[in-house]
Formats: sequence, structure tokens, C-alpha cells
Amino acid sequence: MEQVKNLKCLLCGHEYGPDEVLYVCPNHGTEGILDVQYDYDLITSKFSRTDLKGKGESSLWRYKPLLPVKSNTPVPPLTVGWTPLYPAPRLAKTLGLEHLWVKDDCRQPTASFKDRASLIAIVKALEVNAEVITTASTGNAAAALSGLCASIGMPNVIFVPASAPEAKIAQLMVFGSTVLLIEGTYDDAFDLCLESAQVYGWYIRNTGYNPYMTEGKKTALYEIYEQLEWEGPDAIFVPVGDGCIIGGLHKGLKDLFALGWIKKMPRLIGVQASGSAAMYHAWKQEMDPVQIKPIKASTIADSMASGLPRDRIKAMRAVRETGGAFLAVTDEEILQAIPALARGCGVFAEPAGASSFAGLVKAVQTGLVRPEERIVILATGSGLKDIPAAMQTVGKPKRIRASLKAVEAALDDNLFLLKR
Ligand SMILES: *Cc1c(COP(=O)(O)O)cnc(C)c1O
Ligand SMILES: [Zn+2]
Repeated sequence: MEQVKNLKCLLCGHEYGPDEVLYVCPNHGTEGILDVQYDYDLITSKFSRTDLKGKGESSLWRYKPLLPVKSNTPVPPLTVGWTPLYPAPRLAKTLGLEHLWVKDDCRQPTASFKDRASLIAIVKALEVNAEVITTASTGNAAAALSGLCASIGMPNVIFVPASAPEAKIAQLMVFGSTVLLIEGTYDDAFDLCLESAQVYGWYIRNTGYNPYMTEGKKTALYEIYEQLEWEGPDAIFVPVGDGCIIGGLHKGLKDLFALGWIKKMPRLIGVQASGSAAMYHAWKQEMDPVQIKPIKASTIADSMASGLPRDRIKAMRAVRETGGAFLAVTDEEILQAIPALARGCGVFAEPAGASSFAGLVKAVQTGLVRPEERIVILATGSGLKDIPAAMQTVGKPKRIRASLKAVEAALDDNLFLLKR
């Protein structure tokens, strides 16, 4: 793993060797999130943009030289990453925009962006010969860990709030995880997971604690650039809960910059649910992210409910250092975004997954983006993960007797369909 130079604490700047610490800076406990630092000269000497041309590897492993894993560690067989980036001209037109793409991470093996991070967690766990992996999650990180563990038969223990959507809990049970439904919030589950892992010696995947999750998530950024043939976007809209995805995209940008593969940074726009908007408020008040105090998070977008965003330092840097912004959207706006996105481009996302589109609608209204700009929005999780939320906005279909007469009667107010 000579491509990794060290792990640097975001608080004190202390640097540790890659094998010296597992998760956080010992001087700062859970607050001491580490950033993985690379030897870019070494990487450049072995790997270039042209090596990607025609590369057969249709997964995030096409970027293996830029990932913090040993070359000989076995990796789970499921295909993670290299998800489609769809041009969405009709959706763009509804907003008066000229260039819009949707990055569809609903199409990961367990149907969310989290597969990118959980995959790396498992490889790191294998590198230290861990026998059991654990995570706390609002649902998707757990489902991702659960499914990828199932693909190699690795035992895992999952802490999720009891309020997690049923489909996500079903994934955990079907994959055979040991599941603990916590009577409390995600933040309670997080703390209990860390405490238990210490007692039982499990490997910990937790977001904003395990430094390698950012590294898995950054691969989406590489893909966006490669799929746009290195002519990057002007802005990327990202749902933000703990802030790991947006921090990961920023990390990807910094990597590509350091390698000289790109010359300009797009603005990273973090979209939060207004009932879980700690980052948005801290950004508006120009606060130091270290000072953010926990709030009680409440939103229909369960995947982005986080009272104390675990990756707040990386998330704030992502927005500030790219000249981006945070936005807050209401649950109502998020719910409306689900059918709008689905009907505009054929991608059906869960509430958090569609919130990036809700954010884009707001950004257009407030002049945060210009019509000619090149915009990418992330769809981070499948709509099939939360059917009750989706059904709230679209109404119920007509139920009829099995006769042509009934069809005619039912189509009465939809005459245009008959003429096709
Ligand atoms: C986790 C998640 C998010 C938020 O990502 P963070 O890294 O917590 O900011 C958004 N959408 C979906 C579908 C998620 O699962
Ligand atoms: Zn430190």
C-alpha cells in the first residue's frame, strides 16, 4: 500500500503511518477524524488517465491505484460503482437549464451510494484479519455492509434506529446480519455501536470514524469526470446527512487536481433536509464546524437524518473550498422531488436520494445556478427502499372491474391516451 503516505488528523494535523492507527487520532477520540494522504508522485509514475481508456473493469476497482487498499487483498465479488451518468435534457428543460446529468447510484448492488464505502470497509477489515464487522447506520450503510458481507460470508452486527424503513431492515434480515434495532436515534445507535465494538473487538465501519469511507465515496467523483470525458461540471448537487458523501467528492477532486488530471473545481452544493440541517445553519453563520452542537434531527429523508453530522469538518471544507453552498429543503419539497425526478428522467429515488433534485429546484429559483452551467445531481438511493414515502405524493391508481367498459370509463379523463 505504498500509495498511502499517512493518515492526518483534521484537528491537530498529526500524521500517523497507515498501519499505526485503525480509525481516529488517539489525541482526539471520536472527534479526531483522519484524512488519508497519498503519494501522488508515486501514483503518477504508475497510473495515468489514458490507462483508463478502454479499461474492462466496470466497477470502482478501475481506480484501484488511487484507493487505500493493498494490491493482494481479496475483494468482495459484487460489482460496486461505475454507475450510469444519464443526460437528463427533459428534466433540465423543466428548470430552464441547458446541461444536466443524473448520477444513478440507485443501481448499486444494495441500491444505494453506501456500497462504495462499505466495500472498502470490508477490504480493510480483511487486511487486519478482523472476524466480525459492525456499523451504526440510518439504514443504507448497514444494508450495504450486510449485502457485501453476505457475498463473502463475513459475520456482521448492525445497529439501526428502530424507525428505519422496513425495506432496509428487510435487506439486513435477508442477508443474514445480526440486527439490533435501537430504541433511539441514529446518533444513539452510533455511540452504542462504538461502545459494543470496543467490548467485543469488532472492526468498525462507522461513517466519520473509519477514515476509509471517504475514500470509497470519492470514486463517484472520478466516475463523473471520466464519464464526462474529463470536461467536468460547474456544480454538483449532493444530499448531506453526515457529510461523508460530499467530503468524499471533495477528496476525489483534490486527488484529480494533485494528479494534474483536472484544472478547475466545480462548486459542491450540499443539500440538507430542513429538519436535519446542522451543516446548513453552521455554514450560514460562518461557524467553525468543530463548534457544531447536536440538534434533534427529524425528516422524512431518513438517510440524511443526522443530529450531529459525523463528517462535519470534511463537509464544511468541501463547500467552502469549492465556493459552493449548503441549501435546506423541506420534507414537502423532497417528497415532490421524487416523482419529478422519476418522470423527468426515469430514475426513482428514495427521499434522501431525490433531495439533490429538490435542492437544484431551489438553486434555480434563487439564482444559485445559471442556465448555461453544466450540472450534475446525485441520486443516492433507490425509491424502492421507502415505498410509503413515495406513495404519499403520487396518489392511488384507479381500481376497476375486469371489463373493457370499465377501462373506457376509467380513461374518460385521460382521453389523450386513447388517441395514441
Ligand atoms: C447516507 C445517505 C445520504 C447522505 O450521505 P452522508 O454521507 O451521510 O452525508 C444521502 N442519501 C442516501 C440515499 C444515503 O444513504
Ligand atoms: Zn489529532
